[in-house]
Amino acid sequence: MSRAEVELLVIGGGITGAGIARDAAMRGLRTALVERGDLASGTSSRSSKLIHGGLRYLEQGEVGLVLEAAAERRTLRKIATHLAVPGRMALPIHGRTSAGLMKLRAGLWAYEKMARIAPEERHEIWKRDDTLDHVHGLEPQNLQGAAVYTEYVTDDARLTLETVKSAKRAGALVATYAPAVGIVEEAPAASTAGGTTARSPRLRVSINDDLTGRLHEVTARVVVNAAGPWVDAVRGLGGAAAPRMHLTKGIHLVVSRERLPVDDMIVMRAVDRRMVFVVPYGDIVWIGTTDTDYPRAVERPTITREDVDYLLEATNRTWPAARIGDDDVRGAWAGVRPLLHQEGKKPSEISRRDEILVEPNGLVSIAGGKLTTYRRMAERVVDAVVERLGNKAARPCTTGDVPLVDGETPVPIVRTSLSDADVAYAVDAECAVSICDVLERRARSNLFASGNGLPDVERVGGILARRLGWDERRLATEIEHYRARIAEDVAWRAARS
Ligand SMILES: Cc1cc2nc3c(=O)[nH]c(=O)nc-3n(C[C@H](O)[C@H](O)[C@H](O)COP(=O)(O)OP(=O)(O)OC[C@H]3O[C@@H](n4cnc5c(N)ncnc54)[C@H](O)[C@@H]3O)c2cc1C
Repeated sequence: MSRAEVELLVIGGGITGAGIARDAAMRGLRTALVERGDLASGTSSRSSKLIHGGLRYLEQGEVGLVLEAAAERRTLRKIATHLAVPGRMALPIHGRTSAGLMKLRAGLWAYEKMARIAPEERHEIWKRDDTLDHVHGLEPQNLQGAAVYTEYVTDDARLTLETVKSAKRAGALVATYAPAVGIVEEAPAASTAGGTTARSPRLRVSINDDLTGRLHEVTARVVVNAAGPWVDAVRGLGGAAAPRMHLTKGIHLVVSRERLPVDDMIVMRAVDRRMVFVVPYGDIVWIGTTDTDYPRAVERPTITREDVDYLLEATNRTWPAARIGDDDVRGAWAGVRPLLHQEGKKPSEISRRDEILVEPNGLVSIAGGKLTTYRRMAERVVDAVVERLGNKAARPCTTGDVPLVDGETPVPIVRTSLSDADVAYAVDAECAVSICDVLERRARSNLFASGNGLPDVERVGGILARRLGWDERRLATEIEHYRARIAEDVAWRAARS
């Protein structure tokens, strides 16, 4: 990508950058994407893994978000059937009267009309006894019943990977372990045979190749900053920029489904009345999330004792006999939400809307947003890019119609059992260059496999070593690094509640 000028350089290989690169390449723009670490190594492998229909934004009066989320959910189901899997979500209502349940029923009815929810996905109401039949062990006291509606489950990292692979298929150049480290404006005039002609300014971005230590320069007519929680940091690479982001942390716990045998996704109320989800998948369930201010952008925010206690309290209040304790937690993950700052709002009140910011040097940043609405958000950004380029030859957006790569051959959404061929494929076709890349994001073994992928670490390391030419020392360091990360995910256990 440093050899010839590109029309668009995208900084950030999370779902936002991936969606923009795919859209731009499919419209025929010369597109490149650089990612500081691995694809989806930021927030896009750390979400609740739900493609939300937007119902919860109704409570906040964000009708635009509701409609967009519901429409995008339908689109994702069309272009990536295997990564948008519908399931039932039950919201049990406890209270002295049935007023809460009736209010919810009216809200769902209005939502389904407004969001054009398909008849087979419309809600039902379970009476008290039906609820207890469906959700074993649920706290029966004051239970009025449950509202049951449809939500979709995804594998966030896999969605990102397949979006990047689709971008590559459409011609985008992709480099991982390649952080942007500087942005400068190029002289706005260029000389031609007949003298000097005016041309639109370019940005020159310095990119470090962390695998070789070499520095490269990429010249782009437009640069889009899709760095998620690092949006402000990347804006700062080209000169001072007033912060616009508000970062909040969310954690999840993974528990064996034997210990919490639920058939459907369940919504619980945390101690502060926030909604917390329990999502069953295969032999596990994940429980989350929290929403607390976090001071800085990091790949792996710290999981604290308070975070864990908050989720365990809600779980054990909802299923009093379950008595889920620290030792039942098989794994945990935490991520940082890249939200747009709104003065005076608490973390859970901040809007999940997105906004395009343009710096004086022309750098375009996309801030905020959700996994669910990434495709539509990318479409808006690429519309703005095409306008800035004045590119009349760009084709219209088709990302809502063309299936993602691998969408043709549905596989389980969360893959954990890995064959040798899967590992080789991750290296050859999916940009994996480390054990963590394979076990954490190509498979989700660190979170969902029994033993958190530790039983596979040497075999996977051996295949990578042969393919990538590692010596024994490098292999040993890689294995140790993976083991240390697994231990770090449950380090909060040291502080007993
Ligand atoms: C706990 C939690 C739960 C969530 N649950 C849901 C959910 O269920 N459904 C939903 O729709 N949304 C959910 N979200 C929101 C969603 O996950 C995010 O909106 C989305 O993943 C953000 O993607 P992104 O690409 O903008 O950021 P990221 O995924 O963080 O990607 C940004 C990338 O930029 C890279 N980068 C940074 N600096 C540089 C640089 N200098 N050079 C090159 N690359 C750089 C980073 O390494 C990173 O990979 C959740 C978020 C959290 C935290």
